[in-house]
Amino acid sequence: MNSTLSGRNRSSRIGGFHRKSPLERLDLVAAFADLDEAARSHLADMGNLPVPLADKLIENAIATMNVPIGIATNMKVDGEDVLVPMATEESSVVAAVCNAARQNYDSGFTTSLSGTLMIAQVQAVDVPDPHAARLRLLERRDDIRAICDACDPVLVKLGGGFRDLEVRLLETRGGPMLITHLIVDTRDAMGANAVNTMAEKVAPQIAAWSGGRVYLRILSNLADRRLARAHAVWKLADIGGAEVRDGMLAAYHFAAADPYRAATHNKGIMNGISAVVLATGNDTRAVEAGAHAYAARCGHYSSLTHYEVTREGDLSASIELPMAVGLIGGATRLHPTAQACLRILGVRTAERLARIIAAVGLAQNFSALKALATVGIQKGHMDLHAQNIAMMAGAVGDEVDAVAKALVAKGTVRVDVAEQVLNELRRA
Ligand code: NAD
Repeated sequence: MNSTLSGRNRSSRIGGFHRKSPLERLDLVAAFADLDEAARSHLADMGNLPVPLADKLIENAIATMNVPIGIATNMKVDGEDVLVPMATEESSVVAAVCNAARQNYDSGFTTSLSGTLMIAQVQAVDVPDPHAARLRLLERRDDIRAICDACDPVLVKLGGGFRDLEVRLLETRGGPMLITHLIVDTRDAMGANAVNTMAEKVAPQIAAWSGGRVYLRILSNLADRRLARAHAVWKLADIGGAEVRDGMLAAYHFAAADPYRAATHNKGIMNGISAVVLATGNDTRAVEAGAHAYAARCGHYSSLTHYEVTREGDLSASIELPMAVGLIGGATRLHPTAQACLRILGVRTAERLARIIAAVGLAQNFSALKALATVGIQKGHMDLHAQNIAMMAGAVGDEVDAVAKALVAKGTVRVDVAEQVLNELRRA
């Protein structure tokens, strides 16, 4: 342990930190932060992620963060039963999906995907004749295809690769820019690395053909050529009658009209979606960025879901959002937990994974709206939250349930009350 890092002399300038092993780094961090041995040895336990892998996945790794994986039951997607692993630290998220799916188990969810196309953008500035340059680039479509496809023969062999070209003239505060979109089928890969490589490779040619200077060459997370869709019908009788249905419709209309509400509405959807994205080793931030950008695509941030009443009076719900997830690349192939979760899901294509995830998002949203429109969100949440509060108060083993039940019965779920209950329990 490096004692010079402790106390007042601590500095975040640690030369060669990245060259040390995770344990050596942890020792330095422990000294810096005056961690006690309990905290240090807790961090040193990497759980079921091999240390060398953690050290390769990110830079400067010192520990892992374990998040529980729960299984959403009752899900039937396109006629096939599926158990869905969800990695989340938030209580009620898994239960919400199970409940929604139980209420429409007979009909289940119907899903589709618009394609597995990703977009990479190449930004050209200082183009003297941008209108004509746009046409010059479009005329080079075949040359651009050849450059892109040569970057990734594996992808091309698998039926993917360059598909299309768009060139947009963008008016900006810094003047006009010529934005080239490379549209690439990335098949079972999320595709960020694949399309970024193509964008970088083709950039010098775009500069030459446009006569401008090229700066950014990177994918867009607004993956609107990769839209996952799911819809489902909940029968009036199964959801508790017309009053519940109409309350849910009013909740949806509120979210559709008001960005303050839509942000929370969509956050609930992402509770479900991000949990499956994380469990399968996919990029949660990429999917979240795409979802929120898509929610604002009409210039007004709105709901990602839609609710309507069928002729029979049942509740019809649907969702559509970008879903850039893969089975190859990033952590999906490398992380043993992600691999196990993909086996539980039984998915063989990124398309199937994306479609299941959209269905989970819809299920999550159905439960949230139903709770909000009826008993309120806290009732279901509090039972589980009470357990967390009981543990925060120091309850262990059987005490956790006992204290949680007492908190719910009192209708006050607070740490100070939990401590009182725990003391009484231990005195009894
Ligand atoms: P990758 O480059 O690791 O793997 C994709 C490659 O695998 C393909 O290019 C192809 O050559 C090969 N491949 C083998 N079998 C395939 C199959 N069946 N289908 C498709 N390709 C197959 O990964 P990636 O998907 O290009 O990139 C994903 C990673 O990029 C994620 O970790 C993500 O976090 C990261 N990333 C994201 C962003 C962003 O979202 N803005 C930016 C940069 C990087």
